[in-house]
Amino acid sequence: MIHDVIIAGGGPAGVTSAIYAARAGLKVKLFDPMGGGGQAGTTNMIYNYPGFPQGVSGPELMEFMIEQAKGFGADVDFGEVSSVKKENHLFSITGDGKHYETKSVIWAAGTSPRPLGVPGEDEFIGRGISFCATCDGALFRGKTVAVVGGGDSALTEAQFLTRYAGRVILVHRRDQFRAGLANINKVVENSCITLRLNSTVEEMKGNGQLKSLVVRNVKTGKSEEIEVDGVFLYVGSVPNSTPLDGLADLTANGYVKTREDMSTRTSGLFAVGDVREKLLRQVATAVGDGAVAAWALEKYLIENFR
Ligand code: NAP
Repeated sequence: MIHDVIIAGGGPAGVTSAIYAARAGLKVKLFDPMGGGGQAGTTNMIYNYPGFPQGVSGPELMEFMIEQAKGFGADVDFGEVSSVKKENHLFSITGDGKHYETKSVIWAAGTSPRPLGVPGEDEFIGRGISFCATCDGALFRGKTVAVVGGGDSALTEAQFLTRYAGRVILVHRRDQFRAGLANINKVVENSCITLRLNSTVEEMKGNGQLKSLVVRNVKTGKSEEIEVDGVFLYVGSVPNSTPLDGLADLTANGYVKTREDMSTRTSGLFAVGDVREKLLRQVATAVGDGAVAAWALEKYLIENFR
């Protein structure tokens, strides 16, 4: 069977493309390695997506989006798209280890959390080190946790963690945050969050389980070992774009370069959401990308396959 479009990634960008394309009557298959919702699906509450004055739970929002895509006939499947090739007019892709043919591809594979790259990190991932507060926060009820990073992810998740942890220490390498003002104000006002600014984590120590972090103040040069039960790393992300190497132009950091209609330099291949080179990575902008790509690919299919 030849699909009209295969979508790689089940976050808000990919699922919106699936909703629009399936509603247009196209044969749509979407692969989602995380089982539904991408990064938004692991975000406890989203406060800036329009239409939800009290905020909306990320998992719930994504469940509704996926239900909507399935309702229009999209085939939503688990699994990762590991290779994409274009042969003549068709794309040949490997999804969840199986081979598929499709007339077009929407790449919505998002980003993966970037590790810190300090001694001890590899040893304690899953043993005190986490990249997902929504998934693991409840394991630290009444305990002390650190959050590393100064962007929106670190600040949002530090606030979320105060629901469970007795103490949250936010470690950021500068004295200015990269996050938006709304997030900064909430963190500064939150008495359960202790700020350690101008500070970097130099080492993670423990004995089978993470016990402490060696934190260095970059202004004074002094290092201190602080005891923690867990650490949540939010130091940015790496785009999941490797399978597009050779098909799409990538930035030096690996983000996919697209035109305004989300098309790439290979006709029939579109990229949407956080994996794309763009100004603002939010659910609202991901949804916009997804809608535009589905519209553009409908045009592509009409021009090339009818
Ligand atoms: P980000 O904006 O790239 O921030 C990464 C943070 O990690 C920065 O503060 C950076 O420090 C720090 N960092 C990077 N490498 C480091 C290292 N080796 N050691 C110590 N610190 C390091 O990433 P993000 O917070 O995941 O956000 C990604 C995108 O999603 C952004 O566009 C963000 O606005 C969006 N987002 C939005 C929301 C929301 O609106 N509620 C929530 C989550 C994410 P410097 O600042 O010094 O570079």
